[in-house]
Amino acid sequence: MPKVSTKASNFTESVIREMTRHAHKHGAVNLAQGFPDFPCPSALKEAACAAINADVNQYAITWGAKKFRDALVAKTARFTGIEYDPETEVTVTCGSTEAMMSSLLALVDPGDEVVVFEPFYENYGPDAILCGATPKYVTLAPDGPDGEWVFDPEQLRAAFGSKTAAVIINTPQNPTGKVFTRAELGLIAELCIEHDVVAITDEIYEHILFDGAEHISIATLPGMRERTVTISGLSKSYSVTGWRIGYTLASPTLTRAIRKVHDFLTVGAAAPLQEAGAIALSLSDSYYEKLAQTYRKKRDIFVPMLERLGFEVKLPRGAYYVMAGFSSLSREKDVDFGVRLIKEAGVATVPGSSFFSKRGIGDKLIRFCFCKRDETLHEAAERLESWVKNSS
Ligand code: PLP
Repeated sequence: MPKVSTKASNFTESVIREMTRHAHKHGAVNLAQGFPDFPCPSALKEAACAAINADVNQYAITWGAKKFRDALVAKTARFTGIEYDPETEVTVTCGSTEAMMSSLLALVDPGDEVVVFEPFYENYGPDAILCGATPKYVTLAPDGPDGEWVFDPEQLRAAFGSKTAAVIINTPQNPTGKVFTRAELGLIAELCIEHDVVAITDEIYEHILFDGAEHISIATLPGMRERTVTISGLSKSYSVTGWRIGYTLASPTLTRAIRKVHDFLTVGAAAPLQEAGAIALSLSDSYYEKLAQTYRKKRDIFVPMLERLGFEVKLPRGAYYVMAGFSSLSREKDVDFGVRLIKEAGVATVPGSSFFSKRGIGDKLIRFCFCKRDETLHEAAERLESWVKNSS
């Protein structure tokens, strides 16, 4: 039998995608995978069709179409005040997923350690393992004032050592909705500088913020511009998760390495969709205000409804997920409870343990996403309500 690599054997299949397949099989409302079930802005669709009709159908420049890079640096300067050079500091990738993988492969060696906050977006662990690196986990717990997810500064300090090559930050965070504060990012920055470590920051939910929460890019902190790779993409801000357009912003030295890996991994992201992406990146501030408002309304419909049904929840401050405790509804573990919710209630979620490295943490939590049409959220609410009534 041909062998399977040790790397590929060292992590499991994506639980989120697995839950989505279960959801399809049982006709469940899919609140597992974080993609919108409503259309993207029509200006983007028109721009994509126009680009294809204008025959923008061949490879773009490997590190990204010029129009896209120019629009991206203009938008980044508008929102963060940082000026990037579109010729030497931008790499357009196949989603922020590839941006993270290319960055880690470019900047981390086998045997290095990568600091990762948990609960985490499930790609980071496997990404580190694929580089031959070891993830060092720092655990967030809902122990802050008002139930905020916070880390223990001492645990973070202890996670940094002589083998640390990178720290991965995700703010606003999937799955908790945590928005890292300036003080928290300040400590991470201090440790990065002290240990000469790169910060790789996944800011894909940068525009989905609630209740006055402020998104801070760690690249804007003193001493961090040169040692940060900022990653984001079109998927969440413009509701086009299937377009697979993401990017990195980083110093010329880091970008040169990222571009080499990116070129050999994927050659480039879809050329006509980069043209349409340039239109997306040029949308006015009011677009982003409306996006955040839309998601706040969805959050405010959905999260209190979960609470009424007996789930233990806190309002997330950003992104479009909520971690929900279910101890008062069932004594089961998260995976059993999640599978039963799909089969009996017809609603798919993600088991909480899939966001943690250690067994036992997160097994009384499930994650719902609320990036769905109001009708979809109401349908899920009705299904959950009748299931709770019938099972009590
Ligand atoms: N990063 C985070 C934190 C996510 O939650 C997701 C998708 O859910 C991604 C990255 C994937 O982004 P992309 O579609 O740009 O690859």
